[in-house]
Parts: sequence; C-alpha cells; structure tokens
Amino acid sequence: MRPLLLATAILLSQPALSAPATTPAERWMGHLKVLADDKMEGRLTGTPGYDRAAAYVAGEFQKLGLTPAGTNGFYQPVELTEQTVDLKASRLELVGKGNVPLVLGEQVLVGTRVPQIKGAFDAPLVFIGSGLHLPEQGHDDFAGMDLAGKIVVVLAGGPSRLSGALKSHARTAEFWPAMQRAGAIGSITVANPKQMDIPWERQKLFAETPGMRLSAPELNDAKRPFFTATFSPAEAEMLFLASGRSFGEMLKIADAGETLPRFDLNLRLKGEIVARDRDFTSPNVVGLLPGRDRKLKGEYVVLTAHLDHVGVDKPVNGDAVYNGAMDNASGIASMIESGRALAKKRPKRSVLLVAVTGEERGLLGSRYNANRPTVPAGALVANINMDMFLPLWPFTHVTALGAEESTLGAVSAKAAQGVGARQVPDEAPERNLFVRSDQYSFVRVGIPALALKFAAVSPEEQAIQKDWLTNRYHAPSDDLNQPINPDYVLPFNRYLETLILDVANAPARPTWNQESFFRRFEPAQSAP
Ligand SMILES: [Zn+2]
Repeated sequence: MRPLLLATAILLSQPALSAPATTPAERWMGHLKVLADDKMEGRLTGTPGYDRAAAYVAGEFQKLGLTPAGTNGFYQPVELTEQTVDLKASRLELVGKGNVPLVLGEQVLVGTRVPQIKGAFDAPLVFIGSGLHLPEQGHDDFAGMDLAGKIVVVLAGGPSRLSGALKSHARTAEFWPAMQRAGAIGSITVANPKQMDIPWERQKLFAETPGMRLSAPELNDAKRPFFTATFSPAEAEMLFLASGRSFGEMLKIADAGETLPRFDLNLRLKGEIVARDRDFTSPNVVGLLPGRDRKLKGEYVVLTAHLDHVGVDKPVNGDAVYNGAMDNASGIASMIESGRALAKKRPKRSVLLVAVTGEERGLLGSRYNANRPTVPAGALVANINMDMFLPLWPFTHVTALGAEESTLGAVSAKAAQGVGARQVPDEAPERNLFVRSDQYSFVRVGIPALALKFAAVSPEEQAIQKDWLTNRYHAPSDDLNQPINPDYVLPFNRYLETLILDVANAPARPTWNQESFFRRFEPAQSAP
C-alpha cells in the first residue's frame, strides 16, 4: 500500500515536495500509480478526474524543463460536444407484417458519436453488405442502390481481398460522405461475432454512456445528423426475416471472405431518438523539446499517447472505476520518461510530446491536434503513438503498426535490435489496430506514423494477451491490482527513446513507401 499513498501525496502536494523516485522502474511505476489511482476517476474526457490527470502531466512536463507548446501554456483546449441519448424517452420498432418494438440497450445500442436526427422517422431498411465505398478497388456497396430517405444495414467487415486498412478507411473517411451523397438517413451496424473485441454483454454496459464529437463540423467525418445504431448479432436474424434471406447466410458469406449481396429487407424502422448536446472543452497537454539543429529544429517529431479513459461507469464485481492502467496510463508514463531521456540528448529536430484527450470517444484530441497543430502546419514529420502497448511479458519482440508503410519501419527495427528485441509483423492484422488509435489522425493528414506494441509471440504470451483483452480491456479490472512488472517496460522505453532520437537526428524526414495505401493522404504540394 505504501507506494500508492506516496503517489497520492505527490498528486496533492507541490511538485517540490514530491519524493524523488530513484530508479527508472520506480519513476515509470510512480506515474502509473498516480494516473490509474481511483482519485483520477477513470480520466473520462471532460471530467474533473481527467483535468487532474492533465494537470499532473503538465506538472511533469514542467519538471522536465519542456517548453509549454499548447495554446494556453501546456494546454491545447479541444472544443467538444457531448451527446447523451435518453433511452427511456427514445423508441424504435420494426414494422413489417406486424410491429416489433425493440429493446433499446439490449437488442439495439443507439449511437452517440454522430449527431442523431431530430424528430420521428419511419424509413425502409436496406442491407448494403459491408457498406464499403471503394470504387477504385472495384468494390462499391453504394453503387446502384436507391438509398434516399432509407436506413442502411451493414455487416461490419468486408471481403478478404481488401486489406484491413482499406476496409477501416472505407468505414470512416469514406462512409459518411457516401451516406450523405446517397441521401440515406441512417445506418445500423451489425458486428460479426468473430470480430468483436468486446462481447455484446459488456458493450451493453455502455448503452447510456454519452458520446462525443469535435464541435467543429468540418473536423468530423459525418457533417450532418444521421440515425445510428448497432444491433446485437444474436438478435440480427429478425432484421432479415422478411427478406427471404438470413443473417446466418450473410455470416457464412462474410466468414468465407466473399462479397456480400445487397437487397431490401422489406421492413421499416420507425421511431424517435431523444438526445441532448452539451458543449465543453478538454485539453491536450503539449510539451516541446526544442531541437538543437538550427535548420532541423523547425521540424517536429510528435510523440502521442492518450491520457483519457472511460471514467466511472457500470460496476463490474462491485468496482465502478475504469482506471485504464494499461489503457493508457502506461503510454503516458513512457512518454514522460522518454521526455526525460531525450531532454539529456538534445536531438536535432524538435520533439513534441502530446498527451491527447478524447481518444476513447473517437480519436478526437489527436484529430484536433493533427488538423490544428500548435506548431506551423507542414512542420510535423512523424508521429509515434503508444496506446495500450501491453507490457505483460518480457520485451523480446515489438510490433510497430505501420512499419510496412513508411521509412519509419526500418528505423524502428534497428532501434529494437539495439535493445536485443526483434520487430515482427502485426500478429492480428484483422483487428486493424493501425487505423484505430491516435496515429491515424496524423496519417490522415499525411504524416508517416507508427504505433508501438509488445508482440505476443509465444503461446504463453498469446494466452496472456487474449485473457487481458477478454477480461480487462475497457473493464474496471484494468487497474493497479493486476500484475504489473515495470522491469518489462524498461527495455521498451530505451527502444522508444532510440527510435525517436534516430528519427529526430536523421538527415531526411521520413516518407511513405511508394506502394503504401496511406500515401494518398499526403498533401499535394509535398508529393513528389
Ligand atoms: Zn487506448
């Protein structure tokens, strides 16, 4: 218990009074203990707990001697809008031969990220396969469909011939513009049970959790309101009953990696979603280590980790605080410690340390920072992101998501070698992790990026990882009571420092590989 009390004392006292942590392992663990303490209340974006965590990070940046590089000291306030759905006042029913009322929060989870349409609606349902608009790949689930005034139903995923990156891109950046052009009024997503990270029973716990979006519509993919919901895969058969086809048949086609058919479901969805909005701000925390090279200091390597987590929510085994120790206090702890090491080494390029807000609500703080950087636009040369890198076993292998996409991959492989670790490809490409955390916000504005993970190589490591994802991911048990060995992190931190240093000191800035899918996001003026 003593270290925990000590951490609390650091939190509540002046920085000058904080006890000196002596070893690197103690320092890293010290940050973790502060950030994942119950006092931080799960660091939900927009709550006092998050603000306390942000103040702690700003204080640590200050102690490291970093230059404040937000718009307000170390802070870059991000304007956000929170949407809360009133489940009791909302209603949905399927209308076919008879009327079937749907149980909100059980059979259907109402979406909270995209603004819900106001007022009652009554719209035909159309199944459009995976809902992917990728005409240049010869795949367009919107083509030839009359979707005006209708609600589309999609089975998440897509044919195996399309890469995970393409599919995820199509479901985010391409999906909402395609919906808008088609005049559709909403979408229902059904997850493939084989690809669900969080079981439906646990997803249901968040049914009444508000969602967030960036307040500026131009920064969001969906630029106008839509009805949005996800449907329980166990209940999805009822959506297909009137179509002459079945959900089971669709799953078989999807699991075989084939292209799904598209057809009318011969049902309408009738209802009204009652939701209210609240505007607020939540800060990214931005610290700058100025480069020492007179010319290169005008270029920035951006290290990111999200500081937010999911807050206090439905209790699990009597615990309602979702502490987010691995997700992502661990990443912030490594960011602070790498800042300490880099400050001593004075890299040629400048290094920005950005603890971002709103990741758990849709990569919001990073999207804001990437689109409205606090340094000159075009001066960001690389993004290295850490999100839940899972130091649950010794650091012998690393996966740098995105390594195959840019020149950063080789730099990372060499840095790993330097600490006796080996870089290996993503062992679960179907989870699409490269486009699911903050690095993707930078990728989308053309900046080469990597996201770092401990690779699970042995069957034992894979079992530990699977158990963690099933039982602790986004659960209150991702807390300080889980076994955490800071010694596993130390070689990772040294690898991270070397990686950043090598990128910051290289004569040329990193570039996307010629054949990389993500090269499309490069701003036109910098493309060769
Ligand atoms: Zn995370």
